[in-house]
Parts: sequence; structure tokens; C-alpha cells
Amino acid sequence: MDFELSEDQRLLRDEVRRFAAERIAPGVAERDRKHEFPAEIIREAGEMGLLGMQVPEAYGGSYTDQLSYVLVIEELARVCPATAVTISVTNSVCCWPISRFAHEELKQIVLPALAAGEALGGFGLTEPGSGSDAGSLQTTAVRDGEQWVLNGEKAWITNAGIAGYFVVFARTDPEAGKKGISAFVVPAEAQGLEVGKPEEKVGLKASVTAPLHFGDCRIPGRNLIGAPGQGFKIALATLDHSRLGIAAQAIGIHQRALELARSYALERVQFGVPIARHQAIQFQLAQMATELEAARGLSYAAALAASDPSRAGLMAAQAKLYASEAANRAVWQAVQIYGGNGFCEDYEIARMSRDVRVTTIYEGTSEMQRLVIARRLLLN
Ligand SMILES: Cc1cc2nc3c(=O)[nH]c(=O)nc-3n(C[C@H](O)[C@H](O)[C@H](O)COP(=O)(O)OP(=O)(O)OC[C@H]3O[C@@H](n4cnc5c(N)ncnc54)[C@H](O)[C@@H]3O)c2cc1C
Repeated sequence: MDFELSEDQRLLRDEVRRFAAERIAPGVAERDRKHEFPAEIIREAGEMGLLGMQVPEAYGGSYTDQLSYVLVIEELARVCPATAVTISVTNSVCCWPISRFAHEELKQIVLPALAAGEALGGFGLTEPGSGSDAGSLQTTAVRDGEQWVLNGEKAWITNAGIAGYFVVFARTDPEAGKKGISAFVVPAEAQGLEVGKPEEKVGLKASVTAPLHFGDCRIPGRNLIGAPGQGFKIALATLDHSRLGIAAQAIGIHQRALELARSYALERVQFGVPIARHQAIQFQLAQMATELEAARGLSYAAALAASDPSRAGLMAAQAKLYASEAANRAVWQAVQIYGGNGFCEDYEIARMSRDVRVTTIYEGTSEMQRLVIARRLLLN
């Protein structure tokens, strides 16, 4: 497989790397401490086209290939995983399913604002009682004349409170199991939609995560995505597509952990020499570097296979599983190399150790990725 980047891909990666260094890195620790959402940075990212990477140009997007998208998320996460997740959620679990499955009128109404970053996107699948078992969701949507009326609770919704639109999954036929679920676009200002108290997360503190409450929430009939009953398929297709963004996030964190651990090991002196001279430290750095390249190779290969439906979902699950677990191992090793300082918030690696943890959990836990992979192995 050829990973040589095109001129356009290199230019985009370099532009985002510069943006991350100049605009995101300063203040990242403070925003984390204050749980402060980087509104101005996200606005600038919108102007650069980073919110519309999954939106065709006809709707104002900056549509890019999947490898370019991975490169962008990787560069953002290397500096600030919270900013990366805000941007990746808007792109991959909000804009993508709308671009892919919504009818023309709905696309024209919502996509231009999302692509420009004027409205952020969210994705409402998880509920208090249904996480990994998303097909058991309980939120309902009932048709009432020209409107749909939604009732229920969504949990853990990234960008809740700041997003302009949510892709929301609700049950339209209570008797039809997973085939009774439909997908909708819900505007944040819809009557009957309330945002709950933001979660006190362990990491990603500059990103917002909160529950959504739908109490007789009314949306126009045209806000249905696809046909009634197609919602669960749309949710699975979206996650198959989007979890590569979480792999990219993990690679960015892994890359930064390796850079930090290497610099620290070259500076910190114990037993009269920089600790990088001790073989135990060298072995840890070697392992981190090797797993980083393995994660990158798997993820870039998955990105190149994104348009092949026979391989895309499987490869994205493998990439997400491996990259997120490798990044967790790498950050854990980096903290070890920092010794006591790795346990201190004065050091960037401490924030990384909080931010990396969720990569094996959201957009499908590692266990769910293993189930997806095993199913393909055993049922094909
Ligand atoms: C910061 C953050 C942001 C999030 N953003 C969003 C968002 O924007 N939109 C959204 O819809 N959701 C979001 N989520 C929710 C996330 O996708 C879920 O947390 C995740 O899917 C797991 O669901 P759960 O937390 O209910 O865990 P559970 O499903 O309760 O799982 C608990 C444990 O049991 C394991 N388990 C469950 N079933 C099985 C099985 N069959 N076999 C083996 N092991 C199993 C799981 O792997 C896990 O280890 C977010 C979560 C977090 C933490």
C-alpha cells in the first residue's frame, strides 16, 4: 500500500500543523483547567474549511478524501484532543450522515451553516439505558401532521449546548426492533429540546459533553433523514465511517506522547547520565515508536479503503481498536518515563494521560470493535 502523500495532502497537513502550533497550543493548558470551550479557535477552523471536510462543495463544504481528514484530526489531537473531537464530531457523525442520507431540501437547509462552522454539529445516539446496545434505545418520535414529536433522553452528547444541529436517533415503530428506529436532524432551538448539566469529565475538558432532554420536542416533518426505519442502519454506517477519526485522534496523542517522552528522557539526569542512556527507557521509547507506526499504517490503509464497502468498516474497526489501545499504552509509558513529574498537572503529559483514556470507549468501545471484527471473521 502506498502512503506517499499527495501535494494537496502535505499542504493541508502542514497548514493544520501550523494552525495548531500558533493558534491552539498557546492557552491549551489554561482552557483545560478552566473547562473553557475554544470558541474563537473553532470559528477560525471553520474559516479554514475544517468543519466541512465531509460536505460536498455544492453545499459549501471543503470535501476532502478520508486520508486528508485523518491527517487533519491527527494534527489537531497532537496539540489538543478536545479541539480535535469538537471538529471531528461535527464532520463525521453530523455532516457525514446528512450529506450521505438526507434528502436534497434538508441538505440545502443545514449543510452550508455546518460546513462554514457557523453551526456546530452533534450526534445523539447514546441514552442512559443504551450505550453499546444502541439498538435498544427508547427515545420515540411520533408523526403529528406536518411535524415529528420527540420524547426521551440522550446521554453523553458531545457539543450539546454549543451545536446548532444534532443528528438524533429515535424509535418510530415500537414493534419493529432495530428496524423501527429512524434518524432526524434536530435544530438546537427546537421547541421542547433542553440541554442538561455538562458532564464533569476526567479529560477533554475543553470540549462540551452534556445530556439532551426531549419533551414533546417538535421538528418539521422534512427533518427525517432517509426513510422511516432506516435509522439504525444509518447509525451503524456513520460509526463505521467515523471511527477512523477516533483512530486519528489516538495517533495524534500517541505522537505527542512519544515526542514528550523522548525530550524528557534526553534531559533528565539520574545516576550521572540522561535517563535515555538507560536501556529500559530506550526499550520503552522503541516500543512506543513502533506501535505508533503500526497504528498509523493500519489507519492510513483504512482511510485509503474508505470507499470500498467490503473492507471499510472492518478496517476502520481494526484501526480504532489498535490505535486507541496503543495510544493508551504509549501515554502510560510516557508518564512512567516522566516519573513523579508525569503525575503533575504542570506537565503536558499529565493532561494527555487524561485525554487519551476515552479513545477506547467512545464511538464504540474496544469490546464492540472486537465484536465487529470477530463477526466479519466468523460469518464471512
Ligand atoms: C466524552 C464522551 C463523549 C461522548 N460523545 C457521544 C456523542 O456525541 N454521541 C453519542 O451518542 N454518544 C457519545 N458518547 C457515548 C459513548 O459512545 C458510549 O459511552 C459508549 O458507546 C459506551 O456506552 P456506555 O458508556 O453506555 O457503556 P456500556 O455499553 O454500558 O458498556 C460498559 C462496559 O461493558 C462492555 N460491554 C457492553 N456490552 C458488551 C458485550 N456484548 N460484550 C462485551 N462487553 C460488553 C463495554 O465494552 C464496556 O466496557 C460519549 C461518551 C464519552 C465518554
